[in-house]
Amino acid sequence: MQLIGAHMSIAGGVSNAILRGDELGCTAIQIFVKNARRLFEKPLDNDAIKKWSDNFNASKYVKAVVAHSGYLINLASPDNEKWERYTEAMMDEMTRCDALGIKYIALHPGSPGDMGEDFGLKRIASAIDAIYDEVNFDVDIALETTAGTGYHLGWRFEHLRKIMDNAKFGDRLKVIYDTCHTFSAGYDFTSEKGYHSVWKEFDNIIGLEKLAAMHINDSKYPLGSRRDRHEHIGQGFLGIEPFKLIMQDSRFIEIPKILETPKEDDWDRKNLNLLWELSGETPPKL
Ligand SMILES: [Zn+2]
Ligand SMILES: [Zn+2]
Repeated sequence: MQLIGAHMSIAGGVSNAILRGDELGCTAIQIFVKNARRLFEKPLDNDAIKKWSDNFNASKYVKAVVAHSGYLINLASPDNEKWERYTEAMMDEMTRCDALGIKYIALHPGSPGDMGEDFGLKRIASAIDAIYDEVNFDVDIALETTAGTGYHLGWRFEHLRKIMDNAKFGDRLKVIYDTCHTFSAGYDFTSEKGYHSVWKEFDNIIGLEKLAAMHINDSKYPLGSRRDRHEHIGQGFLGIEPFKLIMQDSRFIEIPKILETPKEDDWDRKNLNLLWELSGETPPKL
């Protein structure tokens, strides 16, 4: 069965995200493990962890959970003090994942400001090494493909490859392919031919075995715009075709596919229905 779902709110406690996912028949969900706009928060208590595992075990539909790290973390920061705080914050988020049994956490590689690509890619790798030097839990960082806004790295497959090569713990790194970001960054997979050539390039440079999950978003801005604004599936510059190709690609059936599209007016339900329809599989009976 396909692992299809959406990013779910943790308002009222992390365990609520599973209930929200169940309500929509999500077979996969993504969550923040704390407030995404803060670097630190009090640790998860035993009660929250127990509620989480109770809900997960009782869940009718949710089979896979991916975490997304907070927006403030920038492991490419050239400022030493900030870099240390961000690295600690990332470690804190991974500790939460470990407690919840979440295997992958998405990370936007970061921005080194005007210090240049090489500096930034090494900086990120050294933060990753500092984390795995200190802790030894079973949580892998999944570097996300980005749109490449401003100085943000990760918009070329080569960036992600270099981070993996620069890091001593490169084998702990996985990748999340965000359809909106990758398209905005200039990879055109909207036709069948383009689709196959972009995935071939991904496989050559990164390796398909590194793919941990996908973020399924259409884009409000065109190819190569380097802008990051998500649109409902089929209603942006990507159109329906690439989503159909993804949903019918047998290599990706077991890869969690997570919507991060606007939620108002029951749009998660509409986008999810569309993805199930494109996949050719029968959606879970609600
Ligand atoms: Zn992201
Ligand atoms: Zn985005």
